[in-house]
Amino acid sequence: MKDRPSEPGVHDVTDLVDDIIAQALEAGSTDIHWEPIDDGMLVRARVDGQLRDMEVLSQRLSENVISRLKIMASLLTYRIDIPQEGSFLWEHGSTNDSSMGAELRVATFPTVRGERAVVRVFRRSTHLQSLDSLGLTTKPAAQLRAAAALPAGLIVVSGPAGSGKTTTLYALVREIQRLTPGRSIIALEDPVEQRLDRVAQVQINPYGELGYERCMRSVLRHDPQVILLGEVRDRQTAFIVVEAALTGHLILTTMHSGDPAETIVRFLEMGIPPYQLVSAMTLVCSQRLIRLRCRHCGASPLRGCNACLNTGYSGRTAISQISTLDERTRSLILLQSPASVLREELKKQELDLNGRARELLASGVTDEEEVVRILGCKLSD
Ligand SMILES: [Zn+2]
Repeated sequence: MKDRPSEPGVHDVTDLVDDIIAQALEAGSTDIHWEPIDDGMLVRARVDGQLRDMEVLSQRLSENVISRLKIMASLLTYRIDIPQEGSFLWEHGSTNDSSMGAELRVATFPTVRGERAVVRVFRRSTHLQSLDSLGLTTKPAAQLRAAAALPAGLIVVSGPAGSGKTTTLYALVREIQRLTPGRSIIALEDPVEQRLDRVAQVQINPYGELGYERCMRSVLRHDPQVILLGEVRDRQTAFIVVEAALTGHLILTTMHSGDPAETIVRFLEMGIPPYQLVSAMTLVCSQRLIRLRCRHCGASPLRGCNACLNTGYSGRTAISQISTLDERTRSLILLQSPASVLREELKKQELDLNGRARELLASGVTDEEEVVRILGCKLSD
């Protein structure tokens, strides 16, 4: 938490807000929360997936801070009784690469203690990660690369919210552009998280007219070769995605599911005929993000230092289990085997998430507590 030498005056609010945003971006934040509390405002930033307190502002400043954010995002300052959404580009900032050039989306909401605001940070495509920088080991990276080079098929990245699924999809798009340049790529997303070069990106409104299914039907008439579809969350979308893969398109998508076995079974449960799924699906990549021990203090019993803002962790890495549909897996799917049977089979193919976490633990870069938090189980067996 930042201690300011003296409380800034109301006329300093512009600098104060710039200062807080710059600091949050420099720390690699993905979201900044401006939360009204009983006697003022708590500012928190999400770093490595966890919210951290930044500072507490006095009551006197909080309304002005929200007004300043609204001005920046071209919102109506005099309307404090309705939720509003807007955005602005952040061009300035320090020389630190990660804080340069970001789109900041502001959403406000009236609460009983006053207006609350959340600023989501969308970094520019110059910050796109490559497949190799995701923390994948050599074999999974090679498998993803091979699947991305195919002319058609269905690649599903699965995991809970905040497990880095979109980052992997974007890295795959970059890989496709590198390996097979000249393919037409269309992305349907909710929300569009980064602007991608040479990709037609569409903002989906899942509850409005432009939902995934409707958009997908129109997009198929735009001569696409590669389609990135943000998430398969219902039966209709599952069907159209499989159909598109079977008619010669390469589809990249995500699903909110635990591991590859669960992902495959979810498609079957949504009514996709097994013979269609085995022809369409190329690969499932299930992943999680694991926080790494702080390099400065992580090994000491008394953890916490300035570098990690006293959390004991700094940075994250991805662990993944990649399953391809080999002969044996196909036959199990055609027999509509339960997830438990598929899981045992896929474990023979490739180390599962628990196995990957065990490797990380053995190398000492993370600890048991973090693994339990992410995977929800101990790895003693
Ligand atoms: Zn530390």
